[in-house]
Amino acid sequence: MLDEGVLQGPFGSWHANSLFAVLLRTEQQLQNDGISLSRIQRVLKGPAGHGSASFQSVAVDLISRHCGPGHLHRTARKLARWNFAGDEAALVARVLEVFEILRRWCPPRVASAYLRTLFNGWVARRRMRHAEKSGVDKPCQCLLGCESGDDSIEHYSVCPAVWGHLRRDRPGGLGVKMPPAMLSFFLLDPGTSEEDVVRLAPFNYGVYRAANYFRFETTDTGVSTRTLLPRWVERGAEKSRARRLLYDVR
Ligand SMILES: [Zn+2]
Repeated sequence: MLDEGVLQGPFGSWHANSLFAVLLRTEQQLQNDGISLSRIQRVLKGPAGHGSASFQSVAVDLISRHCGPGHLHRTARKLARWNFAGDEAALVARVLEVFEILRRWCPPRVASAYLRTLFNGWVARRRMRHAEKSGVDKPCQCLLGCESGDDSIEHYSVCPAVWGHLRRDRPGGLGVKMPPAMLSFFLLDPGTSEEDVVRLAPFNYGVYRAANYFRFETTDTGVSTRTLLPRWVERGAEKSRARRLLYDVR
């Protein structure tokens, strides 16, 4: 049984609902429903595993059959937070399509950061204000170098300090010639080509990592978003097909 005491921390309810806590509870819940690590291992060794199925594919199959379409409703509820125009079912379908593209092109870390974006999982000041006892009056400014926005996903998704890198010609930038838009940053614009989704996804990862870096890891004012962001984008695409597309390398 999960000891809820291990999930306590200085941010109160935020710790209890952090990604780690959600993963821990999900593992416990799935185990209670008969989907355990040992069951997955048994399936892998049995005829259904065929000796070639991966641990992840077996786990996804078991969970999908157990949960049914509930994840679609949950995704729709999470997307409602962003007030995107358009049909809800079409947006959810687009999310599934994007994850399929990411599966083919990008490392899991990129899909993980993308899920955090969709599900409002960044530790941004706007989101954390309610959880910090003394944080209400603290400045809430963009961490990535512009003075026009606040520390929030809504702002970073259109922040001029980061879109400059995306739109700049290659090799200095990523050469994506689209105007800043939240729908594009969320990879949900149906007009975005598959190749631009592959460019936008490591960019999304890079912005997430850069914001975290400035929030938690440095007070060095000599480090700029312009030098740091390209490194995180490259890290996002490392050892994947996406890297070949972004940087024309083999
Ligand atoms: Zn900004």
